[in-house]
Amino acid sequence: IPGQKVVLITGCSSGIGLRMAVMLAKDEQKRYHVIATMRDLKRKDKLVEAAGDTYGKTLSLAVLDVCSDESVKQCINGIKDRHVDVLINNAGIGLVGPVESIPIDEMKKVFETNFFGVIRMIKEVMPDMKKRKGGHIIVVSSVMGLQGVVFNDVYAASKFAMEGFCESLAVQLLKFNVTLSMIEPGPVHTEFEAKMIEDVKKKEYPGADPDTLNYFKNVYLPSSVDIFETLGQTPDDIARCTKKVIE
Ligand code: NDP
Repeated sequence: IPGQKVVLITGCSSGIGLRMAVMLAKDEQKRYHVIATMRDLKRKDKLVEAAGDTYGKTLSLAVLDVCSDESVKQCINGIKDRHVDVLINNAGIGLVGPVESIPIDEMKKVFETNFFGVIRMIKEVMPDMKKRKGGHIIVVSSVMGLQGVVFNDVYAASKFAMEGFCESLAVQLLKFNVTLSMIEPGPVHTEFEAKMIEDVKKKEYPGADPDTLNYFKNVYLPSSVDIFETLGQTPDDIARCTKKVIE
């Protein structure tokens, strides 16, 4: 539809991505068309239910795994004229634990998703945005992209890396009227937080410094649960903030 902005969001099966997709699809004034993507459509039910009657109208679904070149290309090629006005890079995974007990392959998976996954998406949509002299790329980073946190070494590193990449690229995009913005949420109540807490509780972490492990399990974790409860934001808070950024 002329004048309607196409917004593509990664990682919409849960949490922040799901709420962003629903909020933008339901915006009757701006009339976005949201392409809500996820790597496995078996996880679509929560989104479809929350989208209500916008599903199939202002919200459509597509499969997209940010870790796969082929999947990213297939998804973008499937969009009419390949035009994406707003790309929201939200998909991300966490990793908690002492460096000594995390296999390098697991660390690589974090970079493959949080860092190369975003770059893969940007590389695919950027040429068209530059050609059309317009577009907005959003990257969901984290406060941990600005400040390291104990046992979140690799996750924080992946977000720090993204910050450097985006700060460098943003300047180059200005002359093409393409904006690159970063969102840096603090704690948000999503599956991400639940997964992290469960993971830490059940693991032993052989090789970890006992003092740091003790601090992490008995001081940091309970206080982070408190922080989530008192200061934690909801996915809707982050979706609202993102909506303001693209308006
Ligand atoms: P969730 O775990 O609820 O959602 C993450 C989403 O990313 C899921 O939809 C997941 O899909 C998707 N995803 C993971 N890997 C891939 C992949 N290879 N390709 C496509 N999608 C993928 O977490 P949040 O909503 O909290 O996280 C969203 C973003 O917010 C992340 O980038 C995270 O780093 C960031 N963030 C979160 C904070 C928090 O406290 N929750 C704080 C700061 C930043 P699937 O269902 O298939 O696993």
